[in-house]
Amino acid sequence: MTDVSLDADQLDRYSRHVIMDGVGPEGQQRLLDASVLVVGAGGLGSPVIQYLAAAGVGTLGIVDDDVVERSNLQRQVVHGDADVGRSKVDSAREFVADLNPDVAVETDETRLTADNVGSFLAEYDLVVDASDNFSTRYLVNDACTLAGVPFCHGAILRFEGQVTTFAADDGGPCYRCLFPEAPEPGTVPDCATAGVLGVLPGTVGCIQATEAVKLLVGYGETLDGRMVFYDAAAMSFEEIPVDPRPDCPVCGDGGLESVHDVAYEATCRI
Ligand SMILES: [Zn+2]
Repeated sequence: MTDVSLDADQLDRYSRHVIMDGVGPEGQQRLLDASVLVVGAGGLGSPVIQYLAAAGVGTLGIVDDDVVERSNLQRQVVHGDADVGRSKVDSAREFVADLNPDVAVETDETRLTADNVGSFLAEYDLVVDASDNFSTRYLVNDACTLAGVPFCHGAILRFEGQVTTFAADDGGPCYRCLFPEAPEPGTVPDCATAGVLGVLPGTVGCIQATEAVKLLVGYGETLDGRMVFYDAAAMSFEEIPVDPRPDCPVCGDGGLESVHDVAYEATCRI
């Protein structure tokens, strides 16, 4: 059972949750008691931060080492024109403070690494991977899988996105069950070289935020075991099963024991 201690302002602010079957006062209290680490305050991170803050997730961690550039503003909607040149985590923290004083924001202007990821994971119930590069994506997968921390994955390029959830329950798959190794550096384009439709991370990030809220509240069916592919140009959603791979280099038999055994900056190879 969850001890509910919503005050009058909170009963008002979250009233549309409190009256809902599937959330209710207990579900809202679980959100307020929860802590979520958002890795990246960019295109995907913006809607994730917005909606998790609005939903009243009690502690939001935001880690990003970038500063806001004018070319970010086409999609990174927690930042404004006056934030160009400022650190993204400072800009994101101000956005949250303005939206919802219930949310404690812990920011770190750094890059997630094999050395610091363990201390982050120890403090959070759930991770949302809103990063934009393979080394961080594989690091989040490997570290969360080893530590048993659930995480929501999202990725975007041009008109297309992919999104799934790894619930970190026993026997579940991980990202390397689907993509065992990262592509060679330089073989896959990124948003800076190939472009990205500005509204695309809004859709994909909102699905990640939806998954996070459901996991925290404990209601509904998540994307654990399924990956959704979204094509904004065709306006189509397709889904594939994600099954555990017995020879997965992380969650399979004899798999990875420490993130220190992976060359993340070079190839993400174990
Ligand atoms: Zn795996």
